[in-house]
Amino acid sequence: MPPDDFAAEVDRLWDQVKPLYDDLQCHVRAELSDHHGADVVDPAGPIPAHVLGNMWAQSWSNIYDLVAPPAADPGYDLTEILQSRGTSEVEMVEMAEGFFTSLGMESLPDTFWTRSDREVVCHASAWQLDLDEDVRIKMCIDINAEDFSTIHHELGHSYYQLGYRDRAPLFRDSANDGFHEALGDVIALSVTPGYLVDIGLLDEEPSADADLGLLMRMALDKVAFLPFGLLIDRWRWAVFSGDVPPEEYNAAWWSLRDQYQGVGAPSERTEEHFDPGAKYHVPGNTPYTRYFLAHILQFQLHRDLCEAIGYEGPLNRCSIYGNEEAGRRLSEMMAMGLSRPWPDALEAATGSREMDATAILDYFAPLAEWLKEQNEGRACGWS
Ligand SMILES: [Zn+2]
Repeated sequence: MPPDDFAAEVDRLWDQVKPLYDDLQCHVRAELSDHHGADVVDPAGPIPAHVLGNMWAQSWSNIYDLVAPPAADPGYDLTEILQSRGTSEVEMVEMAEGFFTSLGMESLPDTFWTRSDREVVCHASAWQLDLDEDVRIKMCIDINAEDFSTIHHELGHSYYQLGYRDRAPLFRDSANDGFHEALGDVIALSVTPGYLVDIGLLDEEPSADADLGLLMRMALDKVAFLPFGLLIDRWRWAVFSGDVPPEEYNAAWWSLRDQYQGVGAPSERTEEHFDPGAKYHVPGNTPYTRYFLAHILQFQLHRDLCEAIGYEGPLNRCSIYGNEEAGRRLSEMMAMGLSRPWPDALEAATGSREMDATAILDYFAPLAEWLKEQNEGRACGWS
């Protein structure tokens, strides 16, 4: 794909989800303005970055309590369940492995278990040490719901690595940067209350009334992230091309933050400051559009796999657990590795050759409707 087409493709995907993001931004801004006062959060302007509960304002789940729908208690607490049952770290990983084997995939090799117990830097990641079957995850597991989900995510990387291990070494990677991260998250999206019932952690599924809270929690994480995931490389591409000269680095950064996120600086910023440098991936020179694409792809994969297995119902309640057809599609995609253009890999799993962000709208439809009601009478958008 020529570079300009790629930038246009990213914009096309963003345009598909922007209406949902704008409604989320509008609601969050109104609630934060009520909470902090209009002198801190201008109800008509961008949201100041320091009240969103995250140093980069890239994920807003820490302010869930301030913006949550009323009576949105999911009715169970997975952390509490895991702890009260005395579930061990290894058992949590075994449960996640069970997800993959339920899809018809192989068991993890013995070396995964025997070589995993050691001191590590805790930021979770997945590694294929020999480009073959020596796959391991590096993680300090705590007994809680978040880590339970993260284990499923990390094992997604491990199974992708195992899936393409028979390809030539140069092809032992995912179809494009976005696929590796997306695969793990597709599995994590299937960690639903129904799945927890299936594996015996929950006695019965809570009623669907509880979903609004779960959807809001997820939107504050995954929908709030989208414009941030897009703008890092927007800024970087403009720097690399020379469109933004060094004396405008910081101004260009905040202009993109305003344009895409509707987020502003909490205090005056000048070219004395270099705020993009506070994001690891900028000085670390790690491409960032992969995370934007992964957020789009995971919902597309989730929706299309759920459709393929004949699921009917709200998308956020669908789990592909135990479904070998879903497993077969994912395995076919993973086995290609990097040996085919990514539309081929996408087609193997979803039947479609185009990335499609409308799956996000489908997934969050109940929340989108609720946001529209909340925003009635509010002036959305920012100047
Ligand atoms: Zn990952």
